[in-house]
Amino acid sequence: MSPFAGLRIAVVGLGKAGLPAARRLRQWGAEVTCWDDGAPARAKAEALGLHVADPTLHFEFDALLLSPGIPHTLPRVHPAAAAAQSAGTPILADVEFLFRAVRASGSQARFVGITGTNGKSTTTALLAHLLAGAGVPVQAGGNLGPAALDMPILGDDGVYVLEMSSYMLERIEALRFNCATMLNVSPDHLERHGDMARYRAVKARIFAAQRAEDTAVLGMDDEETASLRIDLAAHVIPISGHTAQHGGFWADGDLLHDGDGLIADLATCPNLPGAHNAQNAAAACAMALSLGLDRNHLADGLRSYPGLPHRQEVVGEIRGVRFVNDSKATNADSTAKALASYPRVIWIAGGTGKEGGILPLAPFFPRIAEAFLIGRDGPAFGATLTEYDVPYRLFGTLAEAVPAAAAAAFAGAAEVVLLSPAAASWDQFTGFDARGDAFRALVHSLHEGQI
Ligand code: ADP
Repeated sequence: MSPFAGLRIAVVGLGKAGLPAARRLRQWGAEVTCWDDGAPARAKAEALGLHVADPTLHFEFDALLLSPGIPHTLPRVHPAAAAAQSAGTPILADVEFLFRAVRASGSQARFVGITGTNGKSTTTALLAHLLAGAGVPVQAGGNLGPAALDMPILGDDGVYVLEMSSYMLERIEALRFNCATMLNVSPDHLERHGDMARYRAVKARIFAAQRAEDTAVLGMDDEETASLRIDLAAHVIPISGHTAQHGGFWADGDLLHDGDGLIADLATCPNLPGAHNAQNAAAACAMALSLGLDRNHLADGLRSYPGLPHRQEVVGEIRGVRFVNDSKATNADSTAKALASYPRVIWIAGGTGKEGGILPLAPFFPRIAEAFLIGRDGPAFGATLTEYDVPYRLFGTLAEAVPAAAAAAFAGAAEVVLLSPAAASWDQFTGFDARGDAFRALVHSLHEGQI
């Protein structure tokens, strides 16, 4: 199959998505020129036999595939993007090429796109789990990984479930989602998109190529998202984490409903804790049914959903105490979701805090039996807790905090030890995943009696 024969494509940014993209596009007939600003990434591409050259030196390409992490507008236009813009060359995401290749192969496999400020990865993984459980051939990834151009071409019965970041949505053209979901919009990534109006417009691009026979699942719980409804060509299914929706899906407490009645009791779904996951579950069920899944598969699928690492992931249960890894929570907003999910916790937090620190979490402070603070902003978090009379202890590192937190929990302070840092990890770790992995390893060594 050579859907891109003769096409000259520059691939800039040779990371997790860029490198497989370059190889796949070449395999599909394109003339590929690769570039990365980092020498090690260039060397890796060269070792794989790819053609490496700075595309800005002589910009003659039919398309530029720019890694999602590289800006083509704000805060600073990358030189390759600037060259493409002045040559009038389209800047595209890898998912666009996947779509074109699938359609060129003659396959009618369906495409699902999921976006929103929060809940994208969970909803993507949950829908893929529901579909796979019903025997549907499914490929899920995109922003979440695996990268789009690492996925095989599926047959007519297949479904691609793609997590679409706003960065990717800026770079699609023909990609038409048979089913697209926008969960929610809140101020985020504004440094990249300029302002809310532009951010919302970028997110709305997920619906741009849809037609009347397609489905648009729309979160009704924030005004920004709900107001998109009037402009959509597709059939709209409204969803809510708390309010009944005519023709839609919603949760009433733990009970997930649609117009036909009860779908599932989310209290029986261990890896979908909290009200925020009710919105994700409503969206996944709306999409699954629109894709033709039998209603009877939904409850079992929700119950058996295994969850994603670092998002309220239960990494151990020792002497009746649950250890929860929510390392992905790098700001107060995300940590609020986790704290709201448990009545009483031993809370491990700290790292590189965001503006405003943990003050927005004050409504949840009564749930904290004791806080164990780590990292650069541990002392600042402690100062806030002092004002609210929440007991805390300061530790340098996670390795010191975990055994102390466990001891407090074993002594009866709480049944949950929650790592939900409300801070980035850069002061002590290479990323939220390394921090979560360290927590998991510490809990496992507790389990084995090593610490
Ligand atoms: P994303 O991929 O959009 O970053 P995730 O599914 O990885 O979202 O969830 C990340 C964090 O966002 C979760 O740990 C939780 O704190 C919060 N979250 C998840 N789903 C929602 C939702 N529907 N609404 C608000 N916050 C959510």
